Amino acid sequence: MKTLISQAELETGITSMSADINKQLGSTPLTVICVLTGSIILVADLIRHLEMPLRLGALSASSYKGNTDRSELTLDTHLLPKLKGQHVLIVDDIFDTGHTLNEVIKHIQTLQPAAVYTAVLLQKNGRQEIELDIDFVAFEIPDEFVVGYGLDYQDLYRNLPYVAVLEEHEIRQATDASA
Ligand code: 5GP
Ligand code: MG
Repeated sequence: MKTLISQAELETGITSMSADINKQLGSTPLTVICVLTGSIILVADLIRHLEMPLRLGALSASSYKGNTDRSELTLDTHLLPKLKGQHVLIVDDIFDTGHTLNEVIKHIQTLQPAAVYTAVLLQKNGRQEIELDIDFVAFEIPDEFVVGYGLDYQDLYRNLPYVAVLEEHEIRQATDASA
C-alpha cells in the first residue's frame, strides 16, 4: 500500500476546504448531508470546522455490478431530514465518473431545498462522465483506486487515517481471501 495523502495533509486540506465553505456560505443555516458510508469520516472532521447553525442528515448510496458494465446505483433516503426551503451541502467521499453525485443531487432537488452545494474529499482526474461542477474539492488525485479515510475496498480499510493506493497484489489477496 502506498500513501497518497498523509494524515497531516488531510488535516490541512480539510481545514482549508472548511474555511472556503465558511467564507462562501456565511452564517445562513446549513443542512449537511453525509453520503454514507464513504463520507462518514470526512463529515465528522469537516463539520467541526463549520461555523453556521448546522443540521446533519444522511442518505446511503450504494452501487452493485449487475449484468451490465455500469454498476446500478441504489439510494436509501429514509434517514433524510426535511429539506424544503433549506440550504443543503451534500458531502461525498470521491467524485469519480460523477454518476453517484448526479443521482444524489437529482433526488435532493425533488425535495425543494432553497439551495444545493456539493463538497468532496477527492476528485479523480480524467474520469468525469457527467458534467458537474463540485463547489468544494479538498484534493485532486490521479486515476488510481484509493482506500482509507472512509473509502473502502470490499468494506475494508475505511479506518485508515490516511488515503492510500492499493497495489495489484493487495487487491488479489483480498479477492482470494473473500472467495
Ligand atoms: P462515481 O459515481 O462518481 O463514478 O463514483 C463514486 C463512488 O464510487 C464513490 O462514492 C465511491 O464509493 C466509489 N469509488 C470511485 N472511485 C473510488 C476509489 O478510488 N476508491 C474507492 N474506495 N471507491 C471509489
Ligand atoms: Mg461512495
